[in-house]
Amino acid sequence: MSRVDELLDLAERAQGFMPRDEGLALYRHARALGERVPKGTWLEVGAWCGKSALYLGAAAEATGGVLYSLDHHHGSEENQAGWEHFDPTLVDPLDGRLNTLPTWQRTIATAKLETSVIGLIGDSSVVAAHFAQALDLLFIDGGHALDVARADYASWTPKVVLGGLLLIHDVFVDPNDGGQAPYEIYRAALESARYLDVASEGSLRVLVRVR
Ligand code: SAH
Ligand code: MG
Repeated sequence: MSRVDELLDLAERAQGFMPRDEGLALYRHARALGERVPKGTWLEVGAWCGKSALYLGAAAEATGGVLYSLDHHHGSEENQAGWEHFDPTLVDPLDGRLNTLPTWQRTIATAKLETSVIGLIGDSSVVAAHFAQALDLLFIDGGHALDVARADYASWTPKVVLGGLLLIHDVFVDPNDGGQAPYEIYRAALESARYLDVASEGSLRVLVRVR
């Protein structure tokens, strides 16, 4: 099995919220970008247990880039007790809070991706305010509350370079299929005229920065 196939296989089996077809699309678009622009600086908002980081990390490793995988690791609203996506095994018995960091770290270590995928632990907006690097690729898959998604959009998208990729997950046109916050920031990106929609797979949208 090739190294890339090994990583994509690990990604498929990793715990998280990334359907295979969308994960493979994530890999494909990142890989194509990395072939055009090697040694890229990439960032994902919303790491959880490292599933999407393996798909993107496979492309980063193959093209000499680095993926920053950002999360405060305490889960979103919908991951908390009583909500749809709650997993009691991820609760830290010491303080009763969700903590996905140990699982994320194990996922990246098992995949031997520790020099291509770097963890950033903290609140998205706080990190963004102190992060000056330009991004060749930005993947937004963080909190789905409207204010959280808007903050991710406002604080990270200006850092994407011309020709860089903006990927947004969980974009649902029909409110019956899912929350509307990712769809709203997707529309904001198009309405800004800074981004063009170039591809989609399931709820994943792929945009390119054009101005
Ligand atoms: N990409 C992951 C899924 C991410 S789930 C996968 O492939 O499985 C969304 C994540 O966003 C959660 O882990 C949550 O902790 C994180 N998150 C939500 N709001 C955040 C914020 N303001 N700052 C940092 N991370 C946040
Ligand atoms: Mg998602």
